[in-house]
Amino acid sequence: MLIGAHVSSSGGLLPALERGEAIGADVIQIFTTSPRAWKPAAFPPELLAQYRQAQLDNVTVQATFCHASYLINLATTDPDKLARSRTSLLHNLQVATAIGSAGLVLHLGSHLGAGYSTAVKPIAAELLRAIQTVEDLGGLSSAPILMENAAGAGGTCGRDFGELAAVLDAAGGHGRIGTCLDTQHLFASGADYSTMEAADRVVRTVAVTVGLDRLACIHLNDSKTEQGSNRDRHANLGEGLIGRTSLALLLGHPRLQNVPAVLETPGADGHGPRASDVVIAREIHADGLRRWRQGAGKQGAGKQGAGKQGAG
Ligand SMILES: [Zn+2]
Ligand SMILES: [Zn+2]
Repeated sequence: MLIGAHVSSSGGLLPALERGEAIGADVIQIFTTSPRAWKPAAFPPELLAQYRQAQLDNVTVQATFCHASYLINLATTDPDKLARSRTSLLHNLQVATAIGSAGLVLHLGSHLGAGYSTAVKPIAAELLRAIQTVEDLGGLSSAPILMENAAGAGGTCGRDFGELAAVLDAAGGHGRIGTCLDTQHLFASGADYSTMEAADRVVRTVAVTVGLDRLACIHLNDSKTEQGSNRDRHANLGEGLIGRTSLALLLGHPRLQNVPAVLETPGADGHGPRASDVVIAREIHADGLRRWRQGAGKQGAGKQGAGKQGAG
Protein backbone atom coordinates (compact mmCIF):
# COMPACT_ATOMS: atom_id res chain seq x y z
CA MET A 1 0.00 0.00 0.00
CA LEU A 2 1.33 3.43 -0.96
CA ILE A 3 1.13 5.87 1.93
CA GLY A 4 1.48 9.62 1.72
CA ALA A 5 -0.01 12.93 2.68
CA HIS A 6 -1.67 16.16 1.72
CA VAL A 7 1.02 18.82 1.30
CA SER A 8 1.03 22.53 0.57
CA SER A 9 1.35 23.50 -3.08
CA SER A 10 2.27 27.11 -2.42
CA GLY A 11 5.07 28.58 -4.48
CA GLY A 12 3.84 27.31 -7.84
CA LEU A 13 2.91 23.61 -7.49
CA LEU A 14 6.39 22.15 -8.05
CA PRO A 15 7.57 22.59 -4.44
CA ALA A 16 4.76 20.19 -3.43
CA LEU A 17 6.80 17.28 -4.77
CA GLU A 18 9.79 18.34 -2.65
CA ARG A 19 7.56 18.64 0.41
CA GLY A 20 6.25 15.14 -0.27
CA GLU A 21 9.79 13.81 -0.60
CA ALA A 22 10.85 15.55 2.60
CA ILE A 23 8.26 13.66 4.65
CA GLY A 24 8.81 10.36 2.81
CA ALA A 25 5.42 10.30 1.11
CA ASP A 26 4.76 7.68 -1.60
CA VAL A 27 1.86 9.80 -2.86
CA ILE A 28 0.76 13.38 -2.25
CA GLN A 29 -2.44 15.38 -2.46
CA ILE A 30 -2.57 19.10 -3.20
CA PHE A 31 -5.02 21.94 -3.63
CA THR A 32 -4.48 23.58 -6.99
CA THR A 33 -6.56 26.57 -5.99
CA SER A 34 -7.33 28.10 -2.62
CA PRO A 35 -9.85 25.61 -1.16
CA ARG A 36 -12.06 28.34 0.27
CA ALA A 37 -12.00 30.83 -2.59
CA TRP A 38 -13.78 30.87 -5.94
CA LYS A 39 -11.00 32.65 -7.77
CA PRO A 40 -8.93 30.06 -9.64
CA ALA A 41 -5.16 30.25 -9.58
CA ALA A 42 -3.77 30.98 -13.05
CA PHE A 43 -1.01 28.54 -13.97
CA PRO A 44 0.93 28.90 -17.21
CA PRO A 45 0.58 25.73 -19.32
CA GLU A 46 4.38 25.28 -19.22
CA LEU A 47 4.28 24.98 -15.44
CA LEU A 48 1.58 22.30 -15.59
CA ALA A 49 3.58 20.33 -18.16
CA GLN A 50 6.68 20.78 -16.03
CA TYR A 51 4.86 19.37 -13.02
CA ARG A 52 3.61 16.43 -15.03
CA GLN A 53 7.18 15.58 -16.05
CA ALA A 54 8.61 16.19 -12.57
CA GLN A 55 5.98 13.83 -11.15
CA LEU A 56 6.90 11.15 -13.68
CA ASP A 57 10.59 11.55 -12.85
CA ASN A 58 10.15 11.56 -9.08
CA VAL A 59 11.21 8.26 -7.55
CA THR A 60 9.73 8.91 -4.08
CA VAL A 61 6.36 10.46 -4.89
CA GLN A 62 4.59 8.13 -7.26
CA ALA A 63 1.28 9.92 -7.74
CA THR A 64 -0.38 13.26 -7.11
CA PHE A 65 -4.02 13.53 -6.12
CA CYS A 66 -5.73 16.91 -6.27
CA HIS A 67 -8.47 18.08 -3.93
CA ALA A 68 -11.16 20.34 -5.34
CA SER A 69 -12.37 23.55 -3.71
CA TYR A 70 -14.65 23.11 -0.69
CA LEU A 71 -17.00 25.76 -2.03
CA ILE A 72 -18.23 23.63 -4.91
CA ASN A 73 -21.82 22.51 -4.44
CA LEU A 74 -23.17 20.46 -7.31
CA ALA A 75 -26.48 19.91 -5.51
CA THR A 76 -27.43 23.55 -5.16
CA THR A 77 -30.55 24.89 -6.86
CA ASP A 78 -29.26 28.47 -6.71
CA PRO A 79 -28.32 29.28 -10.35
CA ASP A 80 -25.52 31.67 -9.38
CA LYS A 81 -23.95 29.21 -6.93
CA LEU A 82 -24.28 26.42 -9.47
CA ALA A 83 -22.57 28.47 -12.17
CA ARG A 84 -19.67 29.26 -9.84
CA SER A 85 -19.45 25.58 -8.81
CA ARG A 86 -19.41 24.50 -12.42
CA THR A 87 -16.60 26.93 -13.30
CA SER A 88 -14.58 25.94 -10.26
CA LEU A 89 -14.95 22.20 -10.88
CA LEU A 90 -13.97 22.66 -14.50
CA HIS A 91 -10.89 24.66 -13.55
CA ASN A 92 -9.86 22.15 -10.87
CA LEU A 93 -10.31 19.27 -13.29
CA GLN A 94 -8.40 21.01 -16.08
CA VAL A 95 -5.40 21.55 -13.81
CA ALA A 96 -5.59 18.01 -12.41
CA THR A 97 -5.68 16.63 -15.94
CA ALA A 98 -2.83 18.81 -17.16
CA ILE A 99 -0.49 17.76 -14.33
CA GLY A 100 -1.32 14.08 -14.85
CA SER A 101 -3.07 13.75 -11.49
CA ALA A 102 -4.26 10.33 -10.31
CA GLY A 103 -7.60 11.91 -9.46
CA LEU A 104 -9.48 15.00 -8.31
CA VAL A 105 -11.11 14.38 -4.93
CA LEU A 106 -14.46 16.14 -4.71
CA HIS A 107 -17.08 16.78 -2.02
CA LEU A 108 -20.40 16.66 -3.86
CA GLY A 109 -22.03 19.39 -1.78
CA SER A 110 -25.32 19.78 0.03
CA HIS A 111 -28.89 19.54 -1.18
CA LEU A 112 -29.83 21.86 1.72
CA GLY A 113 -32.86 19.85 2.71
CA ALA A 114 -34.33 19.23 -0.74
CA GLY A 115 -33.51 15.53 -0.43
CA TYR A 116 -30.70 13.45 -1.84
CA SER A 117 -32.77 11.67 -4.44
CA THR A 118 -33.56 14.92 -6.24
CA ALA A 119 -29.86 15.85 -6.28
CA VAL A 120 -28.50 12.61 -7.79
CA LYS A 121 -29.25 13.30 -11.46
CA PRO A 122 -28.13 16.94 -11.46
CA ILE A 123 -24.85 16.00 -9.73
CA ALA A 124 -24.20 13.21 -12.23
CA ALA A 125 -24.91 15.59 -15.11
CA GLU A 126 -22.41 18.12 -13.71
CA LEU A 127 -19.69 15.49 -13.38
CA LEU A 128 -20.22 14.32 -16.95
CA ARG A 129 -20.30 17.88 -18.23
CA ALA A 130 -16.97 18.70 -16.54
CA ILE A 131 -15.27 15.56 -17.86
CA GLN A 132 -16.59 16.14 -21.37
CA THR A 133 -15.57 19.81 -21.39
CA VAL A 134 -12.05 19.05 -20.18
CA GLU A 135 -11.63 16.41 -22.87
CA ASP A 136 -13.08 18.66 -25.60
CA LEU A 137 -10.84 21.59 -24.64
CA GLY A 138 -7.64 19.79 -23.79
CA GLY A 139 -7.67 16.75 -26.02
CA LEU A 140 -6.46 14.66 -23.10
CA SER A 141 -8.40 11.96 -21.29
CA SER A 142 -9.73 13.65 -18.13
CA ALA A 143 -8.26 12.94 -14.71
CA PRO A 144 -10.75 10.85 -12.74
CA ILE A 145 -13.18 12.68 -10.45
CA LEU A 146 -13.14 10.92 -7.09
CA MET A 147 -16.33 11.46 -5.10
CA GLU A 148 -15.49 11.51 -1.39
CA ASN A 149 -17.81 10.04 1.23
CA ALA A 150 -19.12 12.80 3.51
CA ALA A 151 -19.30 13.03 7.30
CA GLY A 152 -23.03 13.60 6.88
CA ALA A 153 -23.72 17.06 8.30
CA GLY A 154 -26.93 18.81 7.22
CA GLY A 155 -27.93 17.83 3.73
CA THR A 156 -24.50 16.70 2.55
CA CYS A 157 -24.55 14.35 -0.40
CA GLY A 158 -22.56 11.16 -0.38
CA ARG A 159 -22.83 10.25 3.30
CA ASP A 160 -22.41 6.60 2.43
CA PHE A 161 -21.27 4.51 -0.51
CA GLY A 162 -24.84 3.76 -1.52
CA GLU A 163 -25.33 7.47 -2.17
CA LEU A 164 -22.11 7.66 -4.17
CA ALA A 165 -23.20 4.60 -6.15
CA ALA A 166 -26.47 6.33 -7.04
CA VAL A 167 -24.52 9.19 -8.65
CA LEU A 168 -22.22 6.76 -10.43
CA ASP A 169 -25.24 4.88 -11.81
CA ALA A 170 -26.92 8.12 -12.90
CA ALA A 171 -23.69 8.97 -14.74
CA GLY A 172 -23.92 5.67 -16.61
CA GLY A 173 -20.93 4.24 -14.72
CA HIS A 174 -18.59 6.61 -16.58
CA GLY A 175 -15.01 5.31 -16.50
CA ARG A 176 -13.53 8.60 -15.22
CA ILE A 177 -15.69 8.68 -12.08
CA GLY A 178 -14.36 6.97 -8.97
CA THR A 179 -14.47 7.36 -5.21
CA CYS A 180 -12.34 8.28 -2.22
CA LEU A 181 -12.95 6.79 1.22
CA ASP A 182 -12.20 9.10 4.14
CA THR A 183 -11.80 7.13 7.38
CA GLN A 184 -12.83 10.10 9.55
CA HIS A 185 -15.94 10.86 7.51
CA LEU A 186 -16.79 7.15 7.58
CA PHE A 187 -16.57 7.10 11.39
CA ALA A 188 -18.44 10.40 11.74
CA SER A 189 -21.22 9.12 9.50
CA GLY A 190 -21.69 6.29 11.98
CA ALA A 191 -19.77 3.36 10.46
CA ASP A 192 -17.96 0.98 12.78
CA TYR A 193 -14.70 -0.81 11.93
CA SER A 194 -13.42 -1.70 15.35
CA THR A 195 -13.33 -5.46 14.69
CA MET A 196 -12.20 -7.54 11.72
CA GLU A 197 -15.81 -8.46 10.98
CA ALA A 198 -16.90 -4.81 11.04
CA ALA A 199 -13.97 -3.68 8.88
CA ASP A 200 -14.76 -6.46 6.44
CA ARG A 201 -18.39 -5.31 6.33
CA VAL A 202 -17.24 -1.79 5.40
CA VAL A 203 -15.08 -3.14 2.57
CA ARG A 204 -17.85 -5.40 1.33
CA THR A 205 -20.25 -2.46 1.33
CA VAL A 206 -17.87 -0.51 -0.90
CA ALA A 207 -17.49 -3.59 -3.12
CA VAL A 208 -21.23 -4.10 -3.67
CA THR A 209 -22.10 -0.41 -4.07
CA VAL A 210 -19.50 1.46 -6.14
CA GLY A 211 -17.16 -1.51 -6.59
CA LEU A 212 -13.59 -1.76 -5.28
CA ASP A 213 -12.19 -1.03 -8.73
CA ARG A 214 -13.69 2.47 -8.33
CA LEU A 215 -12.00 3.12 -5.01
CA ALA A 216 -8.92 5.10 -6.02
CA CYS A 217 -7.86 6.70 -2.77
CA ILE A 218 -8.19 6.43 1.01
CA HIS A 219 -8.03 9.52 3.19
CA LEU A 220 -6.40 8.26 6.35
CA ASN A 221 -7.46 10.37 9.31
CA ASP A 222 -8.33 9.89 12.96
CA SER A 223 -11.31 11.77 14.35
CA LYS A 224 -11.72 14.61 16.85
CA THR A 225 -15.43 13.94 17.02
CA GLU A 226 -17.46 10.90 18.05
CA GLN A 227 -18.73 8.10 15.89
CA GLY A 228 -22.00 9.23 14.33
CA SER A 229 -21.30 12.91 15.13
CA ASN A 230 -21.62 13.83 11.43
CA ARG A 231 -18.81 16.34 11.93
CA ASP A 232 -15.78 16.61 9.67
CA ARG A 233 -12.92 17.07 12.17
CA HIS A 234 -9.65 15.29 11.48
CA ALA A 235 -7.19 14.26 14.22
CA ASN A 236 -3.62 12.96 14.05
CA LEU A 237 -3.44 9.17 13.84
CA GLY A 238 -3.72 7.58 17.26
CA GLU A 239 -4.72 10.87 18.90
CA GLY A 240 -8.40 10.72 18.04
CA LEU A 241 -11.50 8.69 18.85
CA ILE A 242 -11.07 6.10 16.09
CA GLY A 243 -7.73 4.91 17.42
CA ARG A 244 -4.94 2.84 15.99
CA THR A 245 -6.62 -0.57 16.13
CA SER A 246 -9.67 0.34 14.06
CA LEU A 247 -7.53 2.19 11.52
CA ALA A 248 -5.21 -0.82 11.34
CA LEU A 249 -8.10 -3.21 10.73
CA LEU A 250 -9.35 -1.14 7.83
CA LEU A 251 -5.94 -0.30 6.36
CA GLY A 252 -4.71 -3.89 6.60
CA HIS A 253 -7.74 -5.34 4.83
CA PRO A 254 -6.47 -7.65 2.08
CA ARG A 255 -8.74 -6.13 -0.56
CA LEU A 256 -7.52 -2.55 0.01
CA GLN A 257 -3.82 -3.10 -0.55
CA ASN A 258 -3.74 -1.54 -4.02
CA VAL A 259 -5.43 1.66 -2.85
CA PRO A 260 -3.10 4.55 -1.89
CA ALA A 261 -3.69 6.19 1.50
CA VAL A 262 -3.29 9.93 2.03
CA LEU A 263 -3.03 11.62 5.43
CA GLU A 264 -5.05 14.81 5.89
CA THR A 265 -4.20 15.24 9.53
CA PRO A 266 -3.43 18.49 11.35
CA GLY A 267 0.12 17.64 12.42
CA ALA A 268 1.51 20.17 14.88
CA ASP A 269 -0.56 23.37 15.04
CA GLY A 270 -2.47 22.54 11.87
CA HIS A 271 0.56 22.67 9.58
CA GLY A 272 -0.32 19.30 8.11
CA PRO A 273 1.16 15.81 8.19
CA ARG A 274 4.82 15.45 9.25
CA ALA A 275 7.38 12.77 8.44
CA SER A 276 6.62 11.24 11.85
CA ASP A 277 2.93 10.98 10.93
CA VAL A 278 3.79 9.08 7.76
CA VAL A 279 5.93 6.73 9.85
CA ILE A 280 3.01 6.16 12.25
CA ALA A 281 0.70 5.49 9.29
CA ARG A 282 3.12 2.81 8.03
CA GLU A 283 3.27 1.25 11.51
CA ILE A 284 -0.51 1.15 11.68
CA HIS A 285 -0.68 -0.40 8.22
CA ALA A 286 1.90 -3.06 9.16
CA ASP A 287 -0.06 -3.83 12.31
CA GLY A 288 -3.22 -4.20 10.23
CA LEU A 289 -1.54 -6.60 7.81
CA ARG A 290 -0.35 -8.68 10.77
CA ARG A 291 -3.84 -8.79 12.29
CA TRP A 292 -5.41 -9.90 9.00
CA ARG A 293 -2.73 -12.56 8.45
CA GLN A 294 -3.30 -13.94 11.94
CA GLY A 295 -7.07 -13.77 11.50
CA ALA A 296 -6.88 -15.62 8.19
CA GLY A 297 -4.69 -18.27 9.84
CA LYS A 298 -7.26 -18.79 12.59
CA GLN A 299 -10.12 -18.94 10.10
CA GLY A 300 -8.22 -21.44 7.94
CA ALA A 301 -7.87 -23.73 10.97
CA GLY A 302 -11.57 -23.41 11.73
CA LYS A 303 -14.28 -22.67 9.20
CA GLN A 304 -14.10 -20.80 5.88
CA GLY A 305 -11.42 -18.36 4.68
CA ALA A 306 -13.47 -15.25 4.11
CA GLY A 307 -11.82 -12.09 2.80
CA LYS A 308 -9.08 -13.94 0.93
CA GLN A 309 -10.41 -13.38 -2.60
CA GLY A 310 -7.46 -11.33 -3.76
CA ALA A 311 -6.90 -7.61 -3.79
CA GLY A 312 -9.49 -5.31 -5.35
ZN1 LIG B 1 -12.11 16.03 1.28
ZN1 LIG C 1 -10.83 13.65 3.13
